[in-house]
Amino acid sequence: MPITEEVLKATTLGRAINDASDKTLRAVLKSICAKNDQARKEAESQLAVTDTDTDTDTEESSGNNKRQVPCYAFCVNCEKEFDVTTNTKEICRYHPEPSEPTGEDLYVDNYDEFEVDTDEMREDFPECFTFACCDGNLKDNPDGCVSDFHREQYPDAKPSKRSRAF
Ligand SMILES: [Zn+2]
Ligand SMILES: [Zn+2]
Repeated sequence: MPITEEVLKATTLGRAINDASDKTLRAVLKSICAKNDQARKEAESQLAVTDTDTDTDTEESSGNNKRQVPCYAFCVNCEKEFDVTTNTKEICRYHPEPSEPTGEDLYVDNYDEFEVDTDEMREDFPECFTFACCDGNLKDNPDGCVSDFHREQYPDAKPSKRSRAF
């Protein structure tokens, strides 16, 4: 479900939220949810979904045992946040191999031999970085050469599986 940005934009609180760090916002949100049941339910409805995944567990263990799981997860392939309720087979585009500095332009006038394998150089000279997986470069194909499901960072973090591992 989409998160709507409500009327806070022009207020002091809206500006404070925009300026605060992720860490601060997480702490504030958690403390609000701990103190206010209504807020907790609202946050839950926006951030969590009921797990309907039945393909991994046996029938007896799934049963009525519906779990709430996070609605948003981080994908290890494309390194983006994604909505687990809309994860489909073609939705994630990524390169299996990292980009490497290959363009000769990177070394023109590089008298000081500064570092070229950096995020800044990728931004400034995307055409000079090549992916080993497909030979495409960062300028022509920044998104990826492979399509797949988004992959969660901790796909096996289900409590049942975790306990089995020990
Ligand atoms: Zn590729
Ligand atoms: Zn992805």
